[in-house]
Amino acid sequence: MGFLEGKRALIVGIASPRSIAWGIAEAMFEQGAELAYTYQNEKLKTRVEKIAEQTNSEIVIPCDVASDEEIDNVFAELKKHWDYYDILIHSVGFAPREQLDGDYMDVITREGFQIAHDISSYSFAALAKAGLPMMEGRDGACLTLTYMGSIRALKSYNVMGLAKASLEANVRYMAQSLGPRGIRVNAISAGPIKTLAAAGIAQFRRMMAHVEGTAPMRRSITPREVGNVAAFLCSDLASGVTGETTFVDAGYNILGMAELASE
Ligand code: NAD
Repeated sequence: MGFLEGKRALIVGIASPRSIAWGIAEAMFEQGAELAYTYQNEKLKTRVEKIAEQTNSEIVIPCDVASDEEIDNVFAELKKHWDYYDILIHSVGFAPREQLDGDYMDVITREGFQIAHDISSYSFAALAKAGLPMMEGRDGACLTLTYMGSIRALKSYNVMGLAKASLEANVRYMAQSLGPRGIRVNAISAGPIKTLAAAGIAQFRRMMAHVEGTAPMRRSITPREVGNVAAFLCSDLASGVTGETTFVDAGYNILGMAELASE
């Protein structure tokens, strides 16, 4: 029997088979969870339907997290299938492309800042809040995806680093607020993985190559490795863990002088 048997999870953030959320869906399905999905727009619908089919799910709901109405509609639709749910996976991040290429001070704008924070951080609290009536009274778990650019300055990551710092603070405040109601909130800080979102970051290939050459494990990580940790963190096995950011990055974040590690 899988350790997520009897749990129902809503997965937000699949755009392709390379998506981290795809790896999470596969891992959770393997551990016995029932799954439901959202898709950002019509272009992505058939891809999300594919993973839904592979995981025996018929629940595929539209949701652009920039829209309050669409967020509310997710749970109105979900309620037609399920009376309750146990797990929210938020694997969503976005900043306008021009924000992720060039020097931080040259490219930062008010609009870029607002969009990055709205889509990448606020949406986590917004989804959890809208879905709260369906999770309340259960041993629920919410999980989001962050990156080390929140705590260290990296070329090109720019305003996304600020948005991820906000997201990690969001995890702590959500954990404080929802803990008394039995709901845990955590984040995984993943190492670089080649996905559609990553392709928007200038010099992403160089970042990957650097990690593969210097991380303690001398390699990058896979969506499935993130998925396995996500499955654990959202299961009752992690019942004592909340408000935490767990690194799944082949150990890269522990290094002091990463550039010397391969010597
Ligand atoms: P991805 O492109 O596969 O997923 C990003 C998702 O965000 C997509 O499904 C997209 O539809 C969704 N999204 C963006 N704007 C949205 C909106 N307005 N409404 C609804 N959905 C929206 O890429 P990924 O790498 O799997 O990204 C998932 C998460 O993991 C992101 O938060 C990303 O920052 C984070 N992350 C990625 C890496 C990496 O190297 N790929 C590393 C650490 C953290």
